[in-house]
Amino acid sequence: MSTNKPLPTATEISAPFWNGLKAGRLTIPQCKSCGHWVFFPRRHCDKCWSQDLAWKEVKGTGTLYTYTLTRVPTLPDFADEMPQKMAVVELDEGVRINTTLIGVDESEIKVGMRVKPVFDTVSANGTALLRFTAADKDMAERIDSTPAALAAAAEAAASTAEVADKRQVRFDDEAAMKSLVSEAYSAWSNQIVVDQALIDEFAKLSGDDYWIHTDPERARKQSPFGGTIAHGALVQVLQSRLRIPLDYEVVGFNNMVNYGSDRLRFPAPVPAGSRIHARTRVKSVEKLPKGMQLTMEIVTHVVGSERPSVINDLVILYM
Ligand SMILES: [Zn+2]
Repeated sequence: MSTNKPLPTATEISAPFWNGLKAGRLTIPQCKSCGHWVFFPRRHCDKCWSQDLAWKEVKGTGTLYTYTLTRVPTLPDFADEMPQKMAVVELDEGVRINTTLIGVDESEIKVGMRVKPVFDTVSANGTALLRFTAADKDMAERIDSTPAALAAAAEAAASTAEVADKRQVRFDDEAAMKSLVSEAYSAWSNQIVVDQALIDEFAKLSGDDYWIHTDPERARKQSPFGGTIAHGALVQVLQSRLRIPLDYEVVGFNNMVNYGSDRLRFPAPVPAGSRIHARTRVKSVEKLPKGMQLTMEIVTHVVGSERPSVINDLVILYM
């Protein structure tokens, strides 16, 4: 997959660094004459001017040297990262690296805190960016956007859902079904990236190739959103790829019919390159002559955004 966010271009000098990240390794040049660690990568040691350097793998642990939070995206494509936690990390080897912090709350960030690297795969060819998170954080929830990783994540989510202790509710038990109705939403699903490649595929499939979706250059200049956005209908159907954890399971029915949607709204745009996730709640349950009808409100948001991008009141009939 690709994104409209600018990505690094490896040069002859920096290629070993980027290739290392692809393999989940942080490598940095070290001077063979004086032992000094050199970063950013260059041809010579910035301490003794020797050109005798060797790439070495390092652990990547370090401390937060300084940081700042950006609350207005520098490009619309970065809207899903707000607030972006831009940071300078000092590795234990002494070099400082410009990076972004992920997986930490604003309130947890302290200058001098211990950090560790996160290899964040951002495209199908394996391009990875070096991010950092707090040393005590588990970054397992960071899901990369490659199709293989998505499939693995969906499988993992499904198996977690199976082992979880779920309340089983018979579809024809009206009182039990009505007890599922709630104002409170479920936990969030996994996250996926809606990138330009996916939007282009959907444009081809649906025939809706309006420039606001498919022409990043024109959209950057003319769109009120400052860049391309996903089709609302695309974001809606991507709900199938989002595994929303539920603490109940409806059982005992012979047939489950998807009756469509009572309400479908697209209140906020999804800029190309955004990460989305969804959550849900049971809005209503109604006993009909044909069976039990359940209306599920599914809301899909750009990660970090208060306002939903899709509100879908999905109507399901259990018979
Ligand atoms: Zn040196």
